[in-house]
Amino acid sequence: MELLNLHRIVDATAAEGPGLRCAVWTQGCSVRCPGCFNPQTWTTKGGTRLPWQDVAEQVLRARDEHGVEGLTLLGGEPFDQPEPLGALAAAVRAEGLSVMTFTGHRLEELRARPDCAGLLASTDLLVDGPYLADQPEPTRPWVGSANQRFHFLTGRYDPSVLDAPNRLELRIATDGSVELNGFATTEALEALLAPERNHR
Ligand code: SF4
Repeated sequence: MELLNLHRIVDATAAEGPGLRCAVWTQGCSVRCPGCFNPQTWTTKGGTRLPWQDVAEQVLRARDEHGVEGLTLLGGEPFDQPEPLGALAAAVRAEGLSVMTFTGHRLEELRARPDCAGLLASTDLLVDGPYLADQPEPTRPWVGSANQRFHFLTGRYDPSVLDAPNRLELRIATDGSVELNGFATTEALEALLAPERNHR
């Protein structure tokens, strides 16, 4: 089976779905929504190529070491590589973890694609639809635009999870590099990244 092409992995985050989760960003997105927050994930070049089994082991270690309850797949576009991701999702669900998957496609399109059946069958919570910059999401967590839909594909979660607040996480590595994940309004991001302006 082909290798996964990944942008990054965060072992434990509270900002990418219900509860504490291991988050895996894929490299490569054929959807290409204008105004996307992650355009660096559009190209298929420059990602890290790994067997899905290695990633499954990392997710299960994250469960053991950090108590994560599930895996979140984000983009890039996860359904640009549905078969190895479907195998990864099935493997971690077999160990009792939940799977949340984001896609820029709509569920109806994905259901018409035989190659997507495995990943859909192993996804508990699917968030679908392209990012539309002119339809900002006013209240729901984790999504950028109001057209995007939550599909509860199994009984693992229900709409009560949408009561969670949006979170933004910032990590500073020992080499000084800074990574952000989660979702915030442009105003909140500007306030965070330019704190000196808050003191005027
Ligand atoms: S599907 Fe996601 S990663 Fe791809 S362009 Fe749209 S918002 Fe960006």
